[in-house]
Amino acid sequence: MAIERTLSIIKPDATERNITGLIVARLEGAGLRVVAQQRVWWKKKHAEEFYEMHKKRPFFDDLVKFMVSGPIVIQVLEGEDAIKKNREVMGATNPEEADAGTIRKDFAISLEKNSVHGSDTPENAKREIDLCFKKSEIVG
Ligand code: ADP
Ligand code: MG
Repeated sequence: MAIERTLSIIKPDATERNITGLIVARLEGAGLRVVAQQRVWWKKKHAEEFYEMHKKRPFFDDLVKFMVSGPIVIQVLEGEDAIKKNREVMGATNPEEADAGTIRKDFAISLEKNSVHGSDTPENAKREIDLCFKKSEIVG
């Protein structure tokens, strides 16, 4: 399996509850390595650009509002099969459907306030990493 990088975000519902460390521990426990990390508070424009692919979805405006409602932690995770592995550790988008032991099952509040983001394809991982970090900010 190839070593990949993926973009992970700890969302405002999790920073608010002071559980970023608990979430990072889950990711690290699954063998993913944090090779870039920053706590930021996005402007509306940045959230809209990041979630551009969902622009036509009915939940888009609320999602953008939520993502700018507080600080978030953006991070690049590296590891074998990192894109898929991160999504496995995260669990299903809707916490009610997430498997036991996943981050969303254990920490998410709702379908919207679901604590974490993870890139879903290599193309999106590259796009999202490039949107969030300069090359020099990613160090293995
Ligand atoms: P994922 O984050 O699992 O990749 P999506 O890319 O489909 O899920 O959606 C992006 C984010 O938008 C979700 O993580 C969630 O915060 C929010 N979201 C998705 N679907 C809904 C919905 N039906 N109602 C409200 N919020 C939603
Ligand atoms: Mg997605």
